[in-house]
Amino acid sequence: MNLASLTITQAHDGLVKKEFSALELARAFLDEIEKSDKSIFAFLTLTPDLALFQAKKIDDLISQGNSIPLLAGIPAAIKDNILVENMRCTAASKILENYTAPYSATVIKKLEKHGSIILGKTNLDEFAMGASTENSAFGPTKNPRNLSRVPGGSSGGSAAAVAGNLAVYALGSDTGGSIRQPASFCGVVGLKPTYGAVSRYGLIAMASSLDQIGPLAKTVEDARIVFDAIRGRDHFDSTSIEPEVKNLKFKIKNLRVGVPKEYFIKGMEKGVEKAVKNAINKLEEAGAKIVEVSLPHCTDYALAAYYILMSSEVSANLARYDGIKYGYSEARNPKHEIRNLIDVYLQSRKNGLGHEVRRRIMLGTYALSSGYYEAYYLRAQKVRAKIIEDFANAFKKADVIATPVAPTTAFKLGDKTKDPLSMYLADIFVTAVNLAGLPGLSLPCGKSSDLPVGLQFIGKHFEDNFILELGEFFEKL
Ligand code: GLN
Repeated sequence: MNLASLTITQAHDGLVKKEFSALELARAFLDEIEKSDKSIFAFLTLTPDLALFQAKKIDDLISQGNSIPLLAGIPAAIKDNILVENMRCTAASKILENYTAPYSATVIKKLEKHGSIILGKTNLDEFAMGASTENSAFGPTKNPRNLSRVPGGSSGGSAAAVAGNLAVYALGSDTGGSIRQPASFCGVVGLKPTYGAVSRYGLIAMASSLDQIGPLAKTVEDARIVFDAIRGRDHFDSTSIEPEVKNLKFKIKNLRVGVPKEYFIKGMEKGVEKAVKNAINKLEEAGAKIVEVSLPHCTDYALAAYYILMSSEVSANLARYDGIKYGYSEARNPKHEIRNLIDVYLQSRKNGLGHEVRRRIMLGTYALSSGYYEAYYLRAQKVRAKIIEDFANAFKKADVIATPVAPTTAFKLGDKTKDPLSMYLADIFVTAVNLAGLPGLSLPCGKSSDLPVGLQFIGKHFEDNFILELGEFFEKL
């Protein structure tokens, strides 16, 4: 049996039936990482000693005859913008290369309570800004399905770890598609929960009104298990809530699946369009009612509004990396003669932050500056309101919305690095979901030229479980 290819439920069964121990399971993953991560580069930091220590504790529990939670003994990979106490946390930036987290994120505390095992921290685009993981200051991750392709981003290391059997599941973060798009490129499942469903405490902030943490996994069932473990109100994050659990009975018969008429755009890869349309046909054959809906502002304006609002929040959130409080400081560089405080700020940020991050800080600062605020930031906020309205109207006709995740499959490494605008276009179907705060699930629905294609289900606020149930149903089809 290849232990590294098991899902959460399969691994749990094996542990409970004592077919293998948690130590053997953890070792199987560490061996697999040793073997393949040189070529994939999913991990920035590995924590084998901690993983084996945690596994031993689970084995002790099992041998004492205790029943264990589903996630106990299950090896996971964590995106390197989520803090784990006493572990290095870089956000794939030079400015945090030697930063050690002083506390653990709420999601980590929750996973630890369930007995999950941490194998290490995964690569990402610097501060989660990108769609290919090529913006990492430490080098790009490769797609395990085809090593000449990108894994998507920014949670590319997490998606590659799951797809490459280097972890059973992973955590990622999604500000404008960063869980769903890499899940789609790597052929795994990814959930961006409703804004507020999962605590952001201990997530290195990118754009606080959009950021959410969520799972990447091999099956929808696994994604649901992880989501159940990490969700809920946290008094450290005032935007998190404990939603009323609606008892929605999922039935495919007459389920109204909305397909936005604007979402099959010109220039989209033919094989992607075909796979997504096939998937929608399958739902119809199974009894769902397919209805056309319209999201008129989403494909035309969501991307522009997202890049203004996100960059504005980025410029505020990243002001803390100033070479003084923590992280890389030019003041400590013996070769550099620092003249004054401004020099420390400028030189530390210039040398510590990468191109894409600095580009967004500049864009955001510009959009927020006096005289431009009304024309950019305020206008983008108005577009955001329109997008929320679009979804509200669509949900009058549909119970759930189905769309592609990305217009293409995984592109070649280096293909879009010279042209930021073409990289931003990879986010065309995903950012509206963040602007509206809705839950979005990405799951594999076929292939185009041998590369995985993702299907996206978008649900109403706090109906994460509903789209997960639909996802499980689709997976069985
Ligand atoms: N591609 C998006 C961006 O570069 C993804 C960001 C994210 O979700 N973290 O902004």
